[in-house]
Amino acid sequence: MRLLILLLALTAMTAHAHDPATSAPATEAGPKTALVIHGGAGFVPKDALSEADVRDVHATLNRALDAGHAILADGGAALDAVEAAVLVLEESPRFNAGKGAVFNAEGRHDLDASVMEGHTRRAGAVAGLTTVRNPVKLARAVMEHSPHVMLAGDGAEAFADTREDIARVPNEWFDTDHRRRALEKAQQQASLGGAPDKYFGTVGAVALDAHGHIAAATSTGGMTNKKWGRVGDVPVIGAGTWADERCGVSGTGWGEFYIRNAVAHDICARVAYRGDSLEVAANEVVNKIVPAAGGDGGAIALDGDGNIAMPFNSGSMFRGWIKPDGSRGTAIHED
Ligand code: ASP
Repeated sequence: MRLLILLLALTAMTAHAHDPATSAPATEAGPKTALVIHGGAGFVPKDALSEADVRDVHATLNRALDAGHAILADGGAALDAVEAAVLVLEESPRFNAGKGAVFNAEGRHDLDASVMEGHTRRAGAVAGLTTVRNPVKLARAVMEHSPHVMLAGDGAEAFADTREDIARVPNEWFDTDHRRRALEKAQQQASLGGAPDKYFGTVGAVALDAHGHIAAATSTGGMTNKKWGRVGDVPVIGAGTWADERCGVSGTGWGEFYIRNAVAHDICARVAYRGDSLEVAANEVVNKIVPAAGGDGGAIALDGDGNIAMPFNSGSMFRGWIKPDGSRGTAIHED
């Protein structure tokens, strides 16, 4: 009998040790937290931004960092932190997500978003939203309040109708003059047989919380002048967004190439299966695999030790970070 009790106690202890929900990193310096965000890769020549623009970009990125960090510093969940950071960026007309989303070929906006929580492997995604003010919130609601992972178009809007916490706006609410000018330019280029207009300004966040849990979120209006209900990589789990027990990624770039190369998952798979460092894995995928396939863009990534990587091959990527030691920054070019 005593042996049985001992065995049961041992089994309970082992199960506890492997339960990711209780595996907070116990370092002498206390639990580590980290946060990394992006406001999209693309090519902004340095002289294309006025001093006021640059100030505003940094200020907005810092507001997003503050929103996420306040939650992490309080012992809150990585999932809450990435949602809070992305909400700030969706509300800013400067980025291609929520207010300020790009126009599709019909002069309207279709929005995509997703979230993933690493230790539970739960995920939620929405595609082709037309009236949801904050797509990241609906992506999270799909994860938490539906039996599904991805909802699209009218069905996603109908699901939003069932949720009182999801704010709705007319599609024109997302309009901004600078995105309309970008559409006009893209349509002129297309009529002259030019290359498709590039992406720009998708937003995302990846966080590590004090419990050692990782979450990632991404939100976008997609690509200017997109047609036929085009859906990019952002709501495709494993392409634009991924989180597992040890690694999380949010991508930004030419979505078709991110889907074909399962970019977000590939970065974390290299860490998990090959033992690559996060830096090596993210660089390899963003700076070799994607360009070799003909695509471009960037990604932000973070691992369970709080290491972060922010590679891009597109000339610039709006980005910000807070490392486990509390050091923080925001950047646009390869500063
Ligand atoms: N990846 C996004 C898409 O293809 C665009 C972007 O990152 O700006 O929809």
